[in-house]
Amino acid sequence: MAFTTEATEESSTERGADDLLGPGRAIAATLRGTLGPNGLDKMVIDRSGSVVVTNTGATVLDGLEIDAPIGRVIRDAIRTHARHVGDGTTTTALLVGELLDAADGLVERGLHPTSVVDGYASAMSHARDALDELTVPVDPGDERVREVASTAVTGRWDAASARRFADITVDALRSVDFDAARLTLHAYPGGELADSERVTGILVDLDGSSTTVDGFGTDGRRTLADPTVALVDGEVTTPTAEASGTVTVRSPDDLAAVREHERAAESELVRSIADRDVDVLVCQKSINDAAKTELARAGVLPVERTRRDEFDAIARAADATPVTAVADLERDELGRAGSVRRRSVGGGTVVELSGLPGESHESLLLRGGTPHVAEETKRIVEDCLAVARHAASGGGVVPGGGAGMTAVFRAVADRASSVDDRSALALDAFAEAVTVIPRALARNAGADPIDALVALRNRHHDGETAAGVARSGAVRDMFDAGVVEPVAVPARCLETAVRTAGLVLRVDETLDAKPIDGSGADGDGHRGTGHSGGDGHGHAHGDGHGHGDGHAHAHGDGRGSGGGRDGGYPWALSH
Ligand code: ADP
Ligand code: MG
Repeated sequence: MAFTTEATEESSTERGADDLLGPGRAIAATLRGTLGPNGLDKMVIDRSGSVVVTNTGATVLDGLEIDAPIGRVIRDAIRTHARHVGDGTTTTALLVGELLDAADGLVERGLHPTSVVDGYASAMSHARDALDELTVPVDPGDERVREVASTAVTGRWDAASARRFADITVDALRSVDFDAARLTLHAYPGGELADSERVTGILVDLDGSSTTVDGFGTDGRRTLADPTVALVDGEVTTPTAEASGTVTVRSPDDLAAVREHERAAESELVRSIADRDVDVLVCQKSINDAAKTELARAGVLPVERTRRDEFDAIARAADATPVTAVADLERDELGRAGSVRRRSVGGGTVVELSGLPGESHESLLLRGGTPHVAEETKRIVEDCLAVARHAASGGGVVPGGGAGMTAVFRAVADRASSVDDRSALALDAFAEAVTVIPRALARNAGADPIDALVALRNRHHDGETAAGVARSGAVRDMFDAGVVEPVAVPARCLETAVRTAGLVLRVDETLDAKPIDGSGADGDGHRGTGHSGGDGHGHAHGDGHGHGDGHAHAHGDGRGSGGGRDGGYPWALSH
């Protein structure tokens, strides 16, 4: 991407260590106390004044108002990580903070930032080897998968709830062969966390999806036993006289005749549905009002405007073949369900289809006192799902509680002592940095972080490579304690942290970019593309390494993509 001006030249202002390193440190400092099973909660108050009490790293991060551009780069990188990996947000933030801190010391001692970045990259490859060595394979049916799930949710709720959620999540996942597409989460405010439940079947959310159901439940019929299910992938309607536009009405008698004709068409439609022994009619689009009432009267449950994903799931689970129009409906295309039930959940209504003969489908009905709590519960369960799927997908698991990072520490420190050039410094710094995880776990458990670290080093040195910091703060075997995580989690945390620290370290200074022509409307459009932060400030990073190709980073997606417009941006850079 062509930037034309000062960004390519040596920076004219001092590299402001605080500007660039400060935000990373601040984010890490904010999150440190939330790490692990003893992590304390943060009270996050958003702009609208609503309050969330949480110790989930991603939620805290979302609640932070970060003005510094570098801070936003870091937050976005961590968010991207959280989206892809599902766990390890806090860990990543702490690692970024520590890697930046360590780099700062090295740069002060005269090491060039690029040497630090290179040293970190080489440390990363040793780190990966160390984690691989620690990895134990697991089978989808293993008890370990359950332990992975409960490790991921430890500290979010009381121990019993954590265990229960881990159990229902893993049981549900197993029943759908770990296919996330067949497991749906529904969060409903109102009620207690303990009212959350696993439903083997499909829940159709009648409020969220604007689906409406008439004549069902209102007259006391709440459950249909063993119904047939017809799926219409379109709308159910009868042609009305107005719609056809060809009828001329000259007298009240004519009008009555037209209405009579419409009613006859409706009755015909309803009869044709009822005649085919349809008990539940699930329609992807709308069902005309009069037909709905008629259907309900004829004993057919009409479900209209069903969300596409729910519609498809019902088709597969009920073994039904969707048709585009009611006229195409054949008996052998009807699906079945063991029962269809209407339920009121926290002020909302759902239709529950269970006992389905086709492809298995699971739903988790998650409850929480307020919309925020319900959503937070959903978020935690999503993380739990993600790690359980990672673990079951064959990648293997490593002991948690900082055991993985201790192994990384040893491997990288070992390597540092065997090289005799300057890169040893960066390796050493990296090794030190990763111990932030066991240190923070120990401190949060009320134990002395240095004592814990010494004990960990000794135990690992003696071959007890599963030694980590337990919930009590004591050092013990994490496999025995059932504290395990998919190797993908620590590995990806380290990768994200190294990449993000590298990004920050390579920044020499922050420059403001302004449009050359200053034209209002269009200029904004361009900003939107190039700078997903969308705040009206562009930021260019001179790379400062003499490549002579100053470039712009998009702040916002954390991947540094520039938006891909050809021919550069209409910007000029100025200080
Ligand atoms: P993150 O956002 O990084 O996932 P968490 O607050 O979830 O942060 O803490 C994760 C860390 O806590 C991991 O290092 C994990 O191994 C550790 N951990 C989780 N449960 C336990 C436990 N019961 N005992 C010791 N460590 C645990
Ligand atoms: Mg976690």
